[in-house]
Amino acid sequence: MQATNLAYEKVNLGTAECIWLANQYHAEDEIVLIAANELSPEHFLRLFITAHGMTPTGIWQTHTYARYTDSVSGKDHFFLIPMSQNKHEKRPNIRFENGLLMIDHIQTAIYPQSIPHTTPFWYFHYDPNKEHQPYDSMTLNLSPACLEKCVLCAGAKTGRVNNGMDSTLSAETVVTRIFEQHQEAIKQLNSVAVVTGCFPSFNQLKQHLTDVRRNIDAYCKPSTYRVLEHNIVTEEQFDDIVGKLGYDIFVTLECYDQNLRNIALNGKVGHKGRDSKKFVELIKTYANYLDARPELGKHLVRVTYLMGLDSLDVTEYFFQQLAEINQSLKHTQIVPWLSIFTAYNDAMRTIQNKDFNLRFLLDGMKLTKKYFKPELLVNESGTTSDGYARGFF
Ligand code: SF4
Repeated sequence: MQATNLAYEKVNLGTAECIWLANQYHAEDEIVLIAANELSPEHFLRLFITAHGMTPTGIWQTHTYARYTDSVSGKDHFFLIPMSQNKHEKRPNIRFENGLLMIDHIQTAIYPQSIPHTTPFWYFHYDPNKEHQPYDSMTLNLSPACLEKCVLCAGAKTGRVNNGMDSTLSAETVVTRIFEQHQEAIKQLNSVAVVTGCFPSFNQLKQHLTDVRRNIDAYCKPSTYRVLEHNIVTEEQFDDIVGKLGYDIFVTLECYDQNLRNIALNGKVGHKGRDSKKFVELIKTYANYLDARPELGKHLVRVTYLMGLDSLDVTEYFFQQLAEINQSLKHTQIVPWLSIFTAYNDAMRTIQNKDFNLRFLLDGMKLTKKYFKPELLVNESGTTSDGYARGFF
């Protein structure tokens, strides 16, 4: 296409363009202007685009995946652009043209990115900084049945959860097939994550995690096994899963406010949405368990948390509690695994915090840094530079 026919001005995006966008769409807000000045242009832009959204393009009707290189850190980031937010009166025109993302007249260096190697039951996690090692990290979802029916369950929307299968797939069969199809994975695989629906009992969960580990260990020795769970609660259970089987547990909290948990996580009848105070207790039990056993070499407790559901006051109250537990620990730290809540449909949008916007994200970032070490947030909170597309950092 001839550039002379285009109505926009071609510029490389820098701080000046971020300031222009901040003035144009957030003129009254000094905090947004400061962020436009202080963050790397790409970082500011990622938050700006996430807050405003765009009409989806590409494979999915609900969101768009994109990528950029940060001009300050040099790292690549992979992130999700949600559907547009209709509540803004004055909205930027965000779209792809000629393979690059445009905001009004400004051309950015952000471009679309697809995800390779994905199936409903397993996939190799895409990390934009490890494209030379595409089999580094694998996620298994061999038991998709879940009775919880959470409104916010992204797995249900993408067919990974409750896709008609009631039984658990055999770890042996699936793992054998994966390694036959992708023999390079035997050399590269370094990290395995188990995400799954809910098992009816702890013993069934333990059996599944035992099977996964045994079958993968027969081929190779990944350095990390992770399980995303909320049903491992007592010291004895931590000893089974962490001490004996060697898993790191990511405690799946998602949000703290109990009224919201009742709606978003089916908290009145479901187990996942149960009282958030119970979650703080189990996080503490896990943290104390690890802290008393430095020889396990596991020093982090991750808690999954979605920014954009709770009010920031509730977020602060929750983070304060985690920070207090951290102060009592010698070898262990709790760090939130942070994602930005993005709605896939109108039902999901009703649970998004009414104040969600760019300013909300910037305030949330400041709040998070107040309670957790910045280097932990950059390296251990599930960032877009590690390929977690909804990552907050
Ligand atoms: S418990 Fe997890 S997998 Fe089950 S419906 Fe809720 S979010 Fe989805």
